[in-house]
Amino acid sequence: MRIWNRELVRIDYESEIPLVGTVAFGLIDRGTNVIQVRPTSICPLSCIFCSTDAGPNSRRRICEYLVDLEYLVDYFKWIVMWKGEEKIEAHIDTVGDPLTYPYLVDLVQELANIKGVEVISLQTHGALLREDLIYDLEDAGLSRINLSIDALDPEVARWLSNTEWYDVERIMELAQMIVDTKIDLLIAPVWVPGLNDDEIPRIIEFTLKIGAGKKWPPLGIQKYEAHKHGRKPKGVRPMSWKEFYRRLRALERRYNVKLILSPDDFGIHKRRALPIPFKLGEKIDVRVVAPGWLRGEKIAIARGRAITVVDAKWIPLGAEVKVKVIRVKDNIIIARPVL
Ligand code: SF4
Repeated sequence: MRIWNRELVRIDYESEIPLVGTVAFGLIDRGTNVIQVRPTSICPLSCIFCSTDAGPNSRRRICEYLVDLEYLVDYFKWIVMWKGEEKIEAHIDTVGDPLTYPYLVDLVQELANIKGVEVISLQTHGALLREDLIYDLEDAGLSRINLSIDALDPEVARWLSNTEWYDVERIMELAQMIVDTKIDLLIAPVWVPGLNDDEIPRIIEFTLKIGAGKKWPPLGIQKYEAHKHGRKPKGVRPMSWKEFYRRLRALERRYNVKLILSPDDFGIHKRRALPIPFKLGEKIDVRVVAPGWLRGEKIAIARGRAITVVDAKWIPLGAEVKVKVIRVKDNIIIARPVL
């Protein structure tokens, strides 16, 4: 199957691809009580500042991934057992938009049934939100939606999303609706300096007006960063952290709302991390099993991890090759072929 002329790779038990090891799909454990859940890599938008170069207009992606529900849930349970069955947050935050996952409601329901899972949160731009979906997610046990609205002006919002049909006014109506459900709402704009400076105060006013953030903070303003493989709008220079916090502090004073957030605000704390089965610089034998999500990359497997192999365009699927591990942090494993 293909999507936007890219291969759609299904990750299930049969694929034998571990769900830990890559950012593009599966599960990420960064040594806290939060487990990131990535059931799909697909996104319907093509935001001009996208850090993961997602969506129909992506120029670097060569495939997208879809993870089998049962496989994902079983793997998640295994990580929960490892970390301890209490105060776990399942944070569904993909390199695309989780609303593209066809089994999202079932996923939330299954996660809610796992012993120790106390919070289920979802990060989305909301383009595929619908009224009935919100109610289904509420019934399934979703705790919070982090909704990225980057501009309230419809034209600016459409331009930033680089998507003709993107309708921010409809999303604002749905945001208002979420506030009246059991799901908490956090509005999470990406602040792209020079592009949506005037929109940020308007977004804060809107968020406060609708009463978002009953249990958690109402706003989580994100700093635009120029990522190596992301999209970089022309003429935009990312703010320094110092400048970002200075501006946030000024807005905090103006609106009397907390904008500088810390892990404590979300109950995030350190927890036992999964073991990392590789050392940096180690040379290992891997089996190449799938295309990587970016041009020139492949997914390989070894020692129970999925490994992103870069500079691997020439390596055929099924090949067994030697690679050198060049990243292991947070159990995200990247390697390069040894020639
Ligand atoms: S920023 Fe988010 S919604 Fe926009 S293209 Fe990237 S992944 Fe999709």
